[in-house]
Amino acid sequence: MEPDTVFQSSPRRAPSFDVIIVGAGFAGMYMLHLARELGLTATILETAPGVGGTWFWNRYPGARCDVESMQYSYSFCEELQQEWHWSERYASQPEILKYANHVANKFDLLRDIRFNSRVASAIFHEGEDVWQVSTDGGEHYRAKWCVMATGCLSAAQRPNIPGLGTFKGEIYHTGNWPQEPVDLAGRKIGAIGTGSSGIQVVPELAKLAKHLHVFQRTPNFSIPARNQPMDSAYEAEWKQSYAQRRTAARTMPAGIFSDIGTNSALAVSADDRLLEYERRWAAGGTGFTGAYSDLLKNEDANSTAAEFVRKKIREVVTDPAVANLLAPVDHPIGSKRICADTNYFSTFNRQNVTLVDLRSNPLQEVSENGLTAGSQFYELDTLVLATGFDAITGALSKIEIVGRQALTLKEKWRDGPNTYLGLMTSGFPNLFIVTGPGSPSVLTNVIVAIEDNVKWIADCLAYLKTRGAETIEATASAEEGWMEHVGQAAEGTLYTKAKSWYLGVNVPGKPAVFMPYVGGVPTYQKICEEVAADGYRGFVIEGRSKSLRARQAVG
Ligand code: NAP
Repeated sequence: MEPDTVFQSSPRRAPSFDVIIVGAGFAGMYMLHLARELGLTATILETAPGVGGTWFWNRYPGARCDVESMQYSYSFCEELQQEWHWSERYASQPEILKYANHVANKFDLLRDIRFNSRVASAIFHEGEDVWQVSTDGGEHYRAKWCVMATGCLSAAQRPNIPGLGTFKGEIYHTGNWPQEPVDLAGRKIGAIGTGSSGIQVVPELAKLAKHLHVFQRTPNFSIPARNQPMDSAYEAEWKQSYAQRRTAARTMPAGIFSDIGTNSALAVSADDRLLEYERRWAAGGTGFTGAYSDLLKNEDANSTAAEFVRKKIREVVTDPAVANLLAPVDHPIGSKRICADTNYFSTFNRQNVTLVDLRSNPLQEVSENGLTAGSQFYELDTLVLATGFDAITGALSKIEIVGRQALTLKEKWRDGPNTYLGLMTSGFPNLFIVTGPGSPSVLTNVIVAIEDNVKWIADCLAYLKTRGAETIEATASAEEGWMEHVGQAAEGTLYTKAKSWYLGVNVPGKPAVFMPYVGGVPTYQKICEEVAADGYRGFVIEGRSKSLRARQAVG
């Protein structure tokens, strides 16, 4: 839809919309679709030259989703989910990007997306109740509502290694991989980082490299993905009952239709436990930690699963010293995001692969031709940084977001992010966040979290529109109550026992606050729905007459 005349009374010349959406990933695309259905004018501003968000940038060899493809897709359109065919159990990055483009074309989204437009600032103009959104190319836009669909894993984190800038070879970050083909054949490659991205890229690099050195600081738990071509009977089974399965998925904590154990790991015999772990290991995928109800709550229960995986690693890796280094001991299994791999551990049996333990040989510096760890110099042609993301808040903090009374979001969140339901933050009226801090986001099949958040925002916009409301804003007290609840929910789990990006500790200077809501999809969604049904409890809604305020400001 073209810009309309909502703000024609404004002296500014900037194109004006009802809604500006930042980001053309899965969240932004669905938001645009729903905004149009409400008859609102909307546009997306997107840094990349194409849609797909994190799946546009993470095009490293081996990039693949670890949620099954039958589930890692939109559920809002029956025709879409019936017509699309996934070729593998777990979709590769190129296939997910193809799907994103298919969606953009099917719903005719491209005409309302401004590509190559990195948003530099979003400033709320009090009095006018308008967001002015500006790009680093100097373009300005105005809108009543602004939706940050900027993603949780979209700000790649480059490590602060002395001398990195002096390296003469190529440096590639997995989260910002070049769009043009990269030739790695016959190179001496150094890979830093052994999280989900590292675990996926390492086996592929090993196939290409003359020699691959993997620089590991902390080993991670990983379960074989057991990826395979899509089984046509399995696909048909899903398609026959897609709607019911999507509904059932939303009754499960991670929003994933799966078989979750209801017993304590400690309530069954050691033999039964072993059988269950073997069954899940053979089935493959991150559902492994769903075996028992207390694996993420009780350390004794957790260690039964952790020990099983460590034993598997030792069975696969032939050199016992290397196996020992690859077996994680510093955190409970699942407390950091568990990984799914294809031949990761067996890659260390290859002659052209060397594991370097950075704990005993700390990374000293990068120089023109390589890297020094401990007292050893490693000559390298190429460095692959699989060093992760400034997660959940990183993409937002790259933008200068200014709310009421010139308060910046960066300043407000200096000691950690505060939101109400992860969706809004007080002092920043009419600014919505999709999968924001304080929502289940990264602990779920994120497309479910996205769809639920976006639908909530769209319903909220419809509510505001019918009432002629000008602003909606979370109250400080509702936000405080919600953050307390988010913190308490995390305290009851083992998630806080790991130094993970969930806590932000991978980014120097970032406050250590557990950011996602661990209460699970059904609980969270029920609360969001109740808040809306209760006239948006905990939000202040103001109309032109301001008379709406008294009725809605609760909490
Ligand atoms: P990550 O889990 O944060 O892992 C980053 C790795 O880099 C860690 O091993 C970390 O070591 C290491 N590292 C960072 N800075 C370093 C430094 N200065 N020196 C040495 N090592 C350093 O990041 P990620 O692997 O990109 O994964 C992030 C998340 O993205 C995942 O947890 C997952 O949610 C998502 N993801 C999903 C998939 C999938 O669907 N299959 C694939 C990729 C990513 P320490 O642990 O010691 O800090």
